[in-house]
Amino acid sequence: MANTYLVKYAEIGIKGKNRYKFEDALVHRVIERVSRVEGKFRVQKEQGRIHVEALTAHDEEEVLTALSHVFGVSQICPVTEIPDRDFTHICEGLVQHIRERIGDKEFTFKVFAKRSDKSYPLDSPEICVRAGDYIRENLPQSRVDVHTPEYRIYIEIRRSAYVYITGYPGAGGMPVGTAGKAMLLLSGGIDSPVAGYRIAKRGVQIEAVYFHAPPYTSERAKQKVVDLARIISEYTGPILLHVINFTDIQMAIYENCPHDELTIIMRRYMMQIAQKIGVENNCLALVTGESIAQVASQTMQSLAATDAVCNMPVFRPLIAMDKQEIIEESQKIGAYETSILPYEDCCTIFVAKHPVTKPKIPQIEESEKALTELMPPLIENALASDERIWVKPE
Ligand code: ATP
Ligand code: MG
Repeated sequence: MANTYLVKYAEIGIKGKNRYKFEDALVHRVIERVSRVEGKFRVQKEQGRIHVEALTAHDEEEVLTALSHVFGVSQICPVTEIPDRDFTHICEGLVQHIRERIGDKEFTFKVFAKRSDKSYPLDSPEICVRAGDYIRENLPQSRVDVHTPEYRIYIEIRRSAYVYITGYPGAGGMPVGTAGKAMLLLSGGIDSPVAGYRIAKRGVQIEAVYFHAPPYTSERAKQKVVDLARIISEYTGPILLHVINFTDIQMAIYENCPHDELTIIMRRYMMQIAQKIGVENNCLALVTGESIAQVASQTMQSLAATDAVCNMPVFRPLIAMDKQEIIEESQKIGAYETSILPYEDCCTIFVAKHPVTKPKIPQIEESEKALTELMPPLIENALASDERIWVKPE
């Protein structure tokens, strides 16, 4: 078990004058995530990295999982500390560290040494050569490869000595909260949770809205959306979910508009309401799980008709992804099993057999004229129905 975890980050490093803001946000995210792991930890920023020091016994696996969920982290390395800095002890500690993590398999390596304390009796090249020899003698399955080593082996001499090897991959991206906030239209399907994950990965904080149509959609369908929001929150931190009662709006559309245009008109109202809630809550954009040509409401023409009612940018992170790619990402983030639960997310009576695939905006606007007087109070009611649920990670 390591007592320190070195958290490396990549893209933040190029942020110039604003770098500290990104680093502070990342530290904050790491503290928040690690606070949910059993044990006590101290998190500190040091020389372009973050150190997570364990102050009590803990489960290494749990720490690694927690840290791998934080956007902005490129790599996580468990570190073994050798406080007395004796070179033989360093080499022994290093070999044990490698055995615990690589096991008996054959591997290639290269040693990197860094000596911040210049009074240390060996300089960096000497440390590399001697440690490399020691590793080869004690681990005959190892071989040096200075060009493309499988493992980079690090020795750092500071007030204490530290050894670690190539670590575990982080989630990448930017710390959540460094890029403003967006409103995610979250349904119970496969796509929108992945869209939320992707946008959050770029540092965007997300809030979510779900359009519920009781009694046509069940409580279980709503609970499924809450569960999906919880899965995303494992990566983003707490998410404010707005549940909006959409039944009357859907009925009004159903009763007054051509049925082949139902979906597209419904989506235009969803966007308008999401936008109103977004503006109220300081969101800078809307996010959906749409991808070109996936269904009738996601042709280029349909997407244009949906966009036409929005003043806010609409981000569609999955726009050019295949369904299979989306499914794989959904599995990777742990949402898939929940997404495929069979609870309906929209009553089939509201879905036309032959929806328009190439809607013309003037035609849709013409159809919506039947709703001109009906809609404003229904939208008011829908906004008033807002059930705000703070969804927190487990
Ligand atoms: P998903 O798998 O995300 O449900 P989908 O392929 O089923 O997507 P649609 O049902 O056409 O596609 O919805 C497209 C997008 O519209 C969704 O990705 C989501 O962002 C949004 N959306 C659809 N239905 C709802 C809803 N009931 N509440 C909130 N957003 C919704
Ligand atoms: Mg859907």
